[in-house]
Amino acid sequence: MKITGFRLGLLSAPLRVPFRTALREVGHVEDIVVELYTSDGAVGRGEAPPTAAVTGETLGSIQAALAGHICPALVGREVSDLEELCSVISGSIVGNTSAKAAAEIAVWDLYGQACGLPLYKLLGGGRTALETDLTISVNDPETMAKDAAHAVAQGYRTLKIKVGENPDLDLARLRAVRAAAPEAVVRIDANQAWTPRQAVELLEAMQAEGLNLELVEQPVKARDLEGLAFVTAHSPVPVMADESVFSPLDAMTILQNHGADYINIKLMKCGGLSNALRIVSAAQVYGVECMIGCMLEAKVSVTAAVHLACAKGTITKVDLDGPALCSADPVVGGANFSGRDITLTDGPGLGISAVSNLRYLD
Ligand code: MG
Repeated sequence: MKITGFRLGLLSAPLRVPFRTALREVGHVEDIVVELYTSDGAVGRGEAPPTAAVTGETLGSIQAALAGHICPALVGREVSDLEELCSVISGSIVGNTSAKAAAEIAVWDLYGQACGLPLYKLLGGGRTALETDLTISVNDPETMAKDAAHAVAQGYRTLKIKVGENPDLDLARLRAVRAAAPEAVVRIDANQAWTPRQAVELLEAMQAEGLNLELVEQPVKARDLEGLAFVTAHSPVPVMADESVFSPLDAMTILQNHGADYINIKLMKCGGLSNALRIVSAAQVYGVECMIGCMLEAKVSVTAAVHLACAKGTITKVDLDGPALCSADPVVGGANFSGRDITLTDGPGLGISAVSNLRYLD
């Protein structure tokens, strides 16, 4: 089975409410979907969101990288040669991790279909169910408390609270959230907003008040690995590296220096499933648990992340709420999202049969 062609399309899905972090505000999901076609009529699908604040990629750059560099290099190649396909994607252009992830997801989808197996089984997994947290956008404390109470009422047991936009408010935000959701597991994400010293002081104050935080994601600047290690060494709250870890090499650097307690793996940062698997293996060597995360993504690429998480026991935390934040789901098949519960069926590859309302870009 050979790859014979490709097409790119724009997937649009409105968010239920605007998504706000210390880095950006977004009102709807608008992602590039790549479809790879084969000689015997199969379609492999992948997806990439423009997350300029994190990966540097825009809709235009993703489209240009896929159409001009990545996909043409795949045409004419055998689907069965997965290793070679992934290496072609990786070598086709520098950077552009989300565009590469989209192409890789499509290639793995085709490979799974050719094998007649769902991706999680190809990856050696046996789980078919996960429980995700829900992200609460950064806002004034009252709004965040209301959002947290609403999330708990919907059945979410773990909340991921965005902080860091005007750090003076962060303690009051967490107090309000904790009062509104006394039983919830609360993890927080500062999205690089704090200085190392400020992070330690804030986290100490939060724990001293009994806010009982599970972990803090990316308290300091992505490139400040020394600062991240400082917070890890001194904070009463375990630290997770997110924006600091894109590649397997980034993960190794952090793991070797005990630069964080956990690693957040996102397909869009590392460039796809191959590198995600390398990060998982490295973390396993060091006995470090990982979270599987996503950007503001719809269900094509998040389904790939679900398959990965279902296959790897070292991924113990799940932050795959992208589809739950959307008010419409244009993807037919794939993982099933029902509140906090995510389940997989045994359809081959990703298990996706169609993406409706795709606006083709050619
Ligand atoms: Mg994060």
